[in-house]
Amino acid sequence: MGYTKKEKEEVVKKMLEMIGEDPTREGLVGTPDRVVRMWKEIFRGYNKKEKPKVTIFNNGHDGIVYDEMITDTGNFYSHCEHHSVPFFGTYHFAYIPHSNGKILGLSKVARVVDYFSAKLQIQERLTHEIVNYLWTVLCNKKICKHPPLAMAFRMEGEHLCKTMRGVKKKGTMTTTQLFGSFKDDPLARSEFMKWVNR
Ligand SMILES: [Zn+2]
Repeated sequence: MGYTKKEKEEVVKKMLEMIGEDPTREGLVGTPDRVVRMWKEIFRGYNKKEKPKVTIFNNGHDGIVYDEMITDTGNFYSHCEHHSVPFFGTYHFAYIPHSNGKILGLSKVARVVDYFSAKLQIQERLTHEIVNYLWTVLCNKKICKHPPLAMAFRMEGEHLCKTMRGVKKKGTMTTTQLFGSFKDDPLARSEFMKWVNR
């Protein structure tokens, strides 16, 4: 990690040469600098200091006790670790809080997704890391005696390493991880799937 800015830019210049480019031509002069700065941003997931803190509240703190499914959905962008090419798509997150437990500050889910996406990943591990982090926060016995009743996280991603190459069929993949009644109770699970496919 201890590379100087100049050394980092040299690496990018070498990569440009390697693919047959001339790094000294006008259009490419600023490219090593731009790539180095962009990598810092899109691969910030290696920096533990960037890991978002997830805010939680007592269920009922705003006058409403939530005992139904709470949902969130959004986009993600990551890089596959086999080819360092983007994979990206949508996620669906849902959980059922315990009525005496805690609820998540929902805006934080997107930040957690962004953080774990910002390194070389496989979609299975990305799914696992995101939902495990959120589940662990809500199950922390020091903060809360009542874990959520259920949690589910599903990602649907298009993998450019598949779409762009070879047979060029769309490389779409779905990964899901379930906890609590979403895992054990088919009715609860179908409620989640109904919302995903709505
Ligand atoms: Zn790949």
